[in-house]
Amino acid sequence: MSGPVRFAPTATSKSSATRTKAQAMADQAKKRFGQNFLHDQNMVAKILAIVDPRPGQALVEIGPGRGALTQGLIRGAGRLTAIEIDRDLHQGLLTRFGRGLSLVAQDVLTVDFAELADQAGQSIRIVGNLPYNISSPILFHLLPVAHRVVDQTFMLQKEVVDRMVASEGSKTYGRLSVMLQARYQMERRLVVPPGAFTPAPKVDSAIVSLWPKPVSEIGVRDWSTLARLVTAAFATRRKMIRNNLAAELDRLDLAAAGVSETSRAEEISVDQYVALANQLASPPASPL
Ligand code: SAM
Repeated sequence: MSGPVRFAPTATSKSSATRTKAQAMADQAKKRFGQNFLHDQNMVAKILAIVDPRPGQALVEIGPGRGALTQGLIRGAGRLTAIEIDRDLHQGLLTRFGRGLSLVAQDVLTVDFAELADQAGQSIRIVGNLPYNISSPILFHLLPVAHRVVDQTFMLQKEVVDRMVASEGSKTYGRLSVMLQARYQMERRLVVPPGAFTPAPKVDSAIVSLWPKPVSEIGVRDWSTLARLVTAAFATRRKMIRNNLAAELDRLDLAAAGVSETSRAEEISVDQYVALANQLASPPASPL
């Protein structure tokens, strides 16, 4: 990727006492940034084999942390753009990876991924052992730029991955499943136990891959209408859909979408939600 390094290191002017303090801060995992660092090299190798980075590809890593995945990603692709919010980790990353790394010292939720693709002059591949406290907001932040993305490979809480890939009829099927499955093909790749991380999280983790569907395969006319409809449908899981969608019912033809009035939200398929949302969203708006 040819974009500028957006962070200028300043440590050369710091005293050694300040550097020691910075090092101590960097060594401490911060709960507020969801820091669980991967230390299991076997697991690192498995994740890198899934990503399979190749020279010339435009890779973006979210949350490189201490660089567990970064090293192998740069070795494969030649260079990497990494987005890391924790200032205490920046200098260590720049020192270790030098010119191979373009560091975006920013909150990932404020990063314009379309701009990163513009800078790269190609679609990007996104990788990350995500901070679990903001994993769903990250997934939703990436939805509108999916057309600029080749694939995404993420480590997440296993329970979240199960919700992402859940089919209708299952207890874990919900808003996250519908919105992501409408846009991506997804596959759960690997379950990762807590012992692979320092500190160990309280839950299992899993690797998931997401491939944006070709635009020609996406039937969604307007994503904000789909999001609004799905949020309303799942507002109360126990209620029948005619109650959860009462406010829209006069504009909806449930039968035309193959949906029974007495269905519950979790019994309605992704295609049926898309069909219902499209009834509300005519004439066609711009697709993603
Ligand atoms: N990739 C490293 C690894 O596998 O060991 C670290 C993973 S750790 C689970 C999550 C990383 O995301 C941390 O480095 C954390 O500082 C960073 N992070 C947390 N919130 C962030 C945000 N809003 N924007 C960018 N990075 C963030």
